[in-house]
Amino acid sequence: QTFDGMGLNENLIRGVYSYGFEKPSAIQQRAIRPILKGRDVIAQAQSGTGKTATFSISILQSLDTQVRETQALVLSPTRELAQQIQKVILALGDYMNVQCHACIGGTNVGEDIRKLDYGQHVVSGTPGRVFDMIRRRNLRTRSIKMLVLDEADEMLNKGFKEQLYDIYRYLPPGAQVVLLSATLPHEVLEMTSKFMTDPIRILV
Ligand code: AMP
Repeated sequence: QTFDGMGLNENLIRGVYSYGFEKPSAIQQRAIRPILKGRDVIAQAQSGTGKTATFSISILQSLDTQVRETQALVLSPTRELAQQIQKVILALGDYMNVQCHACIGGTNVGEDIRKLDYGQHVVSGTPGRVFDMIRRRNLRTRSIKMLVLDEADEMLNKGFKEQLYDIYRYLPPGAQVVLLSATLPHEVLEMTSKFMTDPIRILV
């Protein structure tokens, strides 16, 4: 399987090849297609498998960049990871005019508000700050079509359960959910049964 055969838009393909990827990794081969079809996907995958690019490519393919509203929200357990994801999305989307903001704790709230008010296609953040921005109505959720929960087991280990449920309640009903987790303990499965509809499970 190749990136060319995935039906990705031309500017996204350019970004993927410029980033140095030649062919999709196993998780990319198995997960991108169902995500693009709109399916909810649970991927049991460790870092190192190419999981970040899996959801980043899927998000970029699904965006309407003409509409400057948040269409995808990625939640992850640490500030560093949220920033790394933002960088990957901006790099893969280098030819797409994409706005992607890292919404993380420990940064200036005024700057967050300014960036969000300007309009961000994608927000990559940690649950605490993201929920704060949603509650203040600076992060508007009405156009969010996809929620990505990266390292879901780690987010729950860090005590983000309540914030994840709070955030989920603000999303439009029927928003697509993609969950990635190295392990699938009870708490993660409980969340998948609350947030997801008929999910496909992929083990890599
Ligand atoms: P991750 O699993 O997201 O932590 O990614 C692990 C590493 O694999 C990162 O350095 C990515 O840049 C790299 N990577 C992801 N997908 C591919 C691919 N299709 N070809 C080559 N390298 C990749």
